[in-house]
Amino acid sequence: MSVNVLVTGGAGYIGSHACKALRVAGYNPVAYDNLSSGHEWAVKWGPLERGDILDFTRLIEVLNCYKPLAVMHFAGLIAVGESVEHPERYYRNNVIGSLSLLQAMREVGVNNVIFSSTAAVYGLPKEAPINETSLEKPINPYGETKLIVERVLRDFGVAYGLNWTALRYFNAAGADPASETGEAHDPETHLIPIIIESIQGKRDRLTVYGADYDTPDGTCIRDYIHVSDLADAHVAALNRLRRGGSSGSYNLGNGAGFSVREVINTAQTVTGKIVPVTYGARRRGDPAVLVADASRATHELSWRPKISSLDEIIRTAWAWHSRTWI
Ligand code: UDP
Repeated sequence: MSVNVLVTGGAGYIGSHACKALRVAGYNPVAYDNLSSGHEWAVKWGPLERGDILDFTRLIEVLNCYKPLAVMHFAGLIAVGESVEHPERYYRNNVIGSLSLLQAMREVGVNNVIFSSTAAVYGLPKEAPINETSLEKPINPYGETKLIVERVLRDFGVAYGLNWTALRYFNAAGADPASETGEAHDPETHLIPIIIESIQGKRDRLTVYGADYDTPDGTCIRDYIHVSDLADAHVAALNRLRRGGSSGSYNLGNGAGFSVREVINTAQTVTGKIVPVTYGARRRGDPAVLVADASRATHELSWRPKISSLDEIIRTAWAWHSRTWI
């Protein structure tokens, strides 16, 4: 019988890809999701248990039922702009929700957790690429909540022996190469799906947020990392904890930066279509350059991205957004 892993947010974008990666690695992924932004159709590799991470009783019930070896914790709110407008939602869901989960895990005796963190913990970094020793200085409530949870994990590790890994994603992008799951946010705020929706006529155009940055072409540079590679890193982190590896935080990125203009050009090449573009003001809180130094993950998790070219990443996103089901 395969080992159970509880995946909070398992019906979401990265969570559903993690469920697939867990299944491929021989685990039984149990998606725990309140379906507030996740999708029932994205749960294909194990059971779905509806529930909220703030619902302690429900968490205890599900944990007792499956007795998972570990929890992968993706559930949370992810929109930077919304976190500035409604910080209460972010502190409640992301911080109190994570505390509720960790408390339930303690009660049931589940001692391993892989946490979905973010490059937003670095705020406006001075250097590129960024490694894990860089200053952690979030500039919005979203990044704050993720960093607070990392601190909680560290302190629970010291006090209660919790084994934890926090994975700091740079720009998650692309979709499952078999198009079995993919990105479906509502509203969509991310660059690559917005480019694709603009090509498909589902929206008027892409607005580029600022072309006056101190970068070679004036637009922001990001490190786009394929969502299936992120998913594989979670499995690698879990296997490392199972082997008795130490707890810690890891950057996950390709180590290569692409400007918004480069992403648009690549999307045009991949799809053979023109992206309707307009140039607008900068978006608040966007650093000019965010590129990962992921060498810690390479060495300690033995992880390396497989779908590392931007071209391939966009190709999988295009295939997903061109699918005919749902
Ligand atoms: N971006 C943009 N127009 C959009 C959405 C994003 O110009 O409609 C830019 C954004 O300013 C950033 C990059 O694309 O430089 C990636 O943004 P995204 O929201 O995808 O991810 P983030 O970097 O905020 O995590």
